[in-house]
Amino acid sequence: MPSRRGATPLPPAHRIAGRALRTALSRRCPNCHTGRIWTGWLTLGDRCPDCGIAPARGEHDFFIGAVMVNFVLAELVTVLSFVAAMILMWPAVNWDALLWGTVALAIAAPIATYPFTMTLWLALDMTFRPPGRET
Ligand SMILES: [Zn+2]
Repeated sequence: MPSRRGATPLPPAHRIAGRALRTALSRRCPNCHTGRIWTGWLTLGDRCPDCGIAPARGEHDFFIGAVMVNFVLAELVTVLSFVAAMILMWPAVNWDALLWGTVALAIAAPIATYPFTMTLWLALDMTFRPPGRET
């Protein structure tokens, strides 16, 4: 039901989060949920092939938030993996293997999670600023 100002009210927060997470995991367009917006693992297409929306949203600093989400998630995965590995090896912890494994994971995790966190950020942005209302 439209509000007094004519805008459609937002759904409950858990539905917004669930839908954004599903979209992020599928790496599909947050607008139409069918278009493949990624042309490579790290390459975002200029337009959705199905609905034609531009993922960049026309702002030069749009992806700063996505990079921040990517960094936080990747480093959280790295720290939790370090702690889990240390607990599993305790008390005979192989510190060299743990160190180099953690360094490798700290480098690989942001690359592995990049398309998912970028799509998540895009889905959340499109929830609060639907296409056509970017300003
Ligand atoms: Zn689309």
